[in-house]
Amino acid sequence: MKIKWVQIACLSGLLASGAAVNERPNLLLILADDLGWGDVGFNGCGDISTPALDSLAASGVRCTAAYASHGYCGPSRAGLMTGRWQQRFGNVINPPFAPAHDNVGLARGEKTLAEYLQDAGYTTGLVGKWHLGAAEPMHPMSRGFDSFFGFLGGGRDYFPEDFPPQDKVWSNLNDVWYFYKLPLHRGRQPIPPPQGYLTDILTEEAVRFVSRKRDEPFFLFLSYNAPHTPLSAKEEDLAKYSHIEDEQRRTYAAMIDCMDQGVGRVMKALNENGLHDNTLVIFASDNGGRLPWSNNGPFSGGKGAAYEGGFRVPCILRWPGRLEAGQDFVRPLSLLDIMPTLMHLAGIEADPDRPLDGVNLLPFLNGEQTGDPHERIYAKRYYNTNPDVGNRAMRQGDWKLVQNKFDGPFALFNLGTDPGEKNDLRSVFPEKMAQMERDYRKWESMHVPPPWGWSEEGANGMDVRKIDISAARRAFEGSKQAE
Ligand code: CA
Repeated sequence: MKIKWVQIACLSGLLASGAAVNERPNLLLILADDLGWGDVGFNGCGDISTPALDSLAASGVRCTAAYASHGYCGPSRAGLMTGRWQQRFGNVINPPFAPAHDNVGLARGEKTLAEYLQDAGYTTGLVGKWHLGAAEPMHPMSRGFDSFFGFLGGGRDYFPEDFPPQDKVWSNLNDVWYFYKLPLHRGRQPIPPPQGYLTDILTEEAVRFVSRKRDEPFFLFLSYNAPHTPLSAKEEDLAKYSHIEDEQRRTYAAMIDCMDQGVGRVMKALNENGLHDNTLVIFASDNGGRLPWSNNGPFSGGKGAAYEGGFRVPCILRWPGRLEAGQDFVRPLSLLDIMPTLMHLAGIEADPDRPLDGVNLLPFLNGEQTGDPHERIYAKRYYNTNPDVGNRAMRQGDWKLVQNKFDGPFALFNLGTDPGEKNDLRSVFPEKMAQMERDYRKWESMHVPPPWGWSEEGANGMDVRKIDISAARRAFEGSKQAE
């Protein structure tokens, strides 16, 4: 496979001389939440319609072996926003919603993609889900985004007007579903519940963002929570999927359909504003599809698993005239690569104190560089109280090392012949097995403990079960009054 790279060499030369800053492309990163590898038309889905995403894939590069840096939300987003393995700085568990805790969220020593791009003159915006901390120093606008519209926690009800009284929300916050009923934010301010369906509301905000006239290039992170739970869809979208018998999958399908319509509307807005050709669009999911309602294609496992279905995700890069359309890139890449790729296009060097684990993908996509972007892809799901939930994985070429439970045995698979990871080859290739386990342990040796957990043991002192909700409420409402 060879991708034609038409003009980037020229562009890079201009950037190196500090000229032609306006030639830098706009950057649009669209992230789905818990979308299965096989639940999009461009990866062969038969029962869910995704024409906008299929069109994006047909006019860009479909990456068939893209890996999120984690099997679930918060840690995956920590890696995405820093270009570094989140295990380096302890972001290995979802941050609890803790607006009174200044250190709960994306580690404060890290510099985000948005901060780098903001420093380089990009207009930066986040629309949708953050999930990297709710306290003031953790707010998206404290971490490099000029604007924010969305929600700070890990999920949100899809019908914001279905909004219980605040006292009821705050008195039930130990129940995760009540976290999902906290107000949306515009900037740092909670807003009254808007009318409509959340995916549409986020789409409309993204359309407004790309339609705004500005002198500088922009970076928009459109972070849909679809199709994450709660499974909740509009009647008009559900009506298209009456052929799906299973109610959970029918609802999930309708949620994906609505998100796909949203992607189509944002792409139309790019076109209408003359930005179609000068915008690099990346689409991916933050982790694999949740079972049992999602379909992770030929891969085993779902969200959270160390098997491919846990963290191998749908992924497209599209930039007309710069990346040859309709190509497949089949070599393993990491969503950690998004940050260095975008930084390269913006002409930014990484801070040497925070070396990036991702790589610039462009030379690989255009065929200038052969081989795999990564010699090794890792995954580790940390859990400090229940070893059954923790897992580990490493891919090296076609070989895949998997430990399904922290205290269980490692297994060895060959993805080239066994993408479903069914045939454990550890006893056939004991030397390969030992070498991979040694390499994996070397990676793990640079990890630091998480700063919070579900007990004080194994976490660095903070038990999320003891978070003071009344202090959280004061902090949340204090931010409202301060505006
Ligand atoms: Ca997710």
